[in-house]
Amino acid sequence: MALNFIWKIAGALADALHLPGFPKHKEPKFDKKKVTVIFVLGGTGAGKGTQCSLLVEKYNFSHLSTGDLLRAEQDRLDSQFGDLIRTHIREGEIVPMEVVVKLLENAMCAVLESKTGEGWGDGKGRFLVDGFPRKMDQALKFEEDVCTSSLVLFFTTNEETMLERLLERGKTSSRDDDNIESIKKRFATYKETTMPVIEHYEKSGKVAEVDSSPSVDEIHAVAAAAVAKVLT
Ligand code: AMP
Repeated sequence: MALNFIWKIAGALADALHLPGFPKHKEPKFDKKKVTVIFVLGGTGAGKGTQCSLLVEKYNFSHLSTGDLLRAEQDRLDSQFGDLIRTHIREGEIVPMEVVVKLLENAMCAVLESKTGEGWGDGKGRFLVDGFPRKMDQALKFEEDVCTSSLVLFFTTNEETMLERLLERGKTSSRDDDNIESIKKRFATYKETTMPVIEHYEKSGKVAEVDSSPSVDEIHAVAAAAVAKVLT
């Protein structure tokens, strides 16, 4: 961390002084003024999917779920990462950040080239990035290389409710990880690895916490109000 910071400062100074031989200080690929990125986090089974669909309808977001992107990559025939992703997902572990950030960046590029309507065109876009960042290294890498985020929507609920919802989903989802062993591992990973990400963004006032125990409509009203603030 410290070395990374010093390296960044040295790069920025070299840029400012036009010193040769130093790597150029890198700007993120997308400009925050044109591309709005909202991270969506919350314990697995906290109803993020439903809320994201409603926000997509209301604000014409592109909704990218890193879980979905990883499952698609895992199933892609000539993927070099298929086995690695499969093992991590089954064990409820965090897939290495290089893979996740690259998949996300590629997906964003594809959407920016094709999506139209409110909020899109001339390099502009708005993304709900669901299930990301699950670990500090991904948060830092994404902000540095891809785009500065505008908001973290953090859906909260208790473990009992989440467990109930996931076991119910497991009856029809045919997902490898909707079983009690994987779910428990995912909860543990979440507490150990993802909570520090929330705490990091809380320090910069970027987190909107949304209680996801009331009705779908009530949750949506709170989430939509938080989103409206960063879109205007
Ligand atoms: P989800 O579909 O969000 O419940 O994610 C299912 C599994 O995919 C997780 O338990 C992880 O193994 C993996 N996964 C999803 N998002 C990420 C991410 N941002 N970073 C690393 N692994 C992820």
